[in-house]
Amino acid sequence: MITAQNVNKTFGQLQVLKGVNLEVQQGEVVVIIGPSGSGKSTLLRCINHLEAIDDGNIIFDGQPVAFKELPGGKRIPVKGNEVYRLRRQIGMVFQRFNLFPHMTALSNVMEGPVTVLGVAKGEARRLAENLLSKVGLANKANSYPSQLSGGQQQRVAIARALAMNPKVMLFDEPTSALDPELVGEVLNVIKDLASEGMTMLVVTHEMGFAREVADRVVFMDEGRIIETGVPEQIFSSPKHPRTREFLSNVI
Ligand code: ADP
Ligand code: MG
Repeated sequence: MITAQNVNKTFGQLQVLKGVNLEVQQGEVVVIIGPSGSGKSTLLRCINHLEAIDDGNIIFDGQPVAFKELPGGKRIPVKGNEVYRLRRQIGMVFQRFNLFPHMTALSNVMEGPVTVLGVAKGEARRLAENLLSKVGLANKANSYPSQLSGGQQQRVAIARALAMNPKVMLFDEPTSALDPELVGEVLNVIKDLASEGMTMLVVTHEMGFAREVADRVVFMDEGRIIETGVPEQIFSSPKHPRTREFLSNVI
């Protein structure tokens, strides 16, 4: 579903991604862990082309995200409408919930289908109601973001991303901004999605969640993927000293 091939990305003088290779199969849940500043967010942002990469390539569901190759072999950047078309198929949930503050939970979830996909309002409303009940918020449909807890807002944000019927969900530290007692309710929603077979790439510091839900765990440090493995292997017998050191500090 997602292939990153030798992805390099610099911001000015700083090389943030250094030859990253990653594959995510359909239905797979891949969790990315690693220290702050290691390039985790940048990698996610490159996958849905919120950031352009310098070289390498990213393929999403058979379609090039970053560069496409013309018949003569010339590489040209993917841009404009092609980027929007790809991005619509990729749901993204950030640390901050980014809901529209002047809209109810229901309107937040309806917005994408109505304005981007052209779904009729009645149908979008039914879809949004279903998604809000899926994330346990059927009774909050008419609440505004300011009337919801952080955990509830994040669940609305997940419902809003799902409303676009994405092929993949990307989560960037979805619980890092939450009070500890609200983390579980958000992780449970993500676990449910995993059990339904959603393809997901999740950046998180929640190691218990990673162990339980990940098919594979990827450890990043200083712009590189240092080690990849099933959770049992990464958490119980990490091969690389940097993985060991990181885990000994966070667990
Ligand atoms: P992580 O998510 O693992 O904490 P990031 O991908 O956010 O790491 O950042 C990796 C590095 O890239 C950091 O050093 C960060 O300061 C830098 N960085 C991220 N975004 C930008 C940007 N837009 N401009 C300049 N530097 C950036
Ligand atoms: Mg980050």
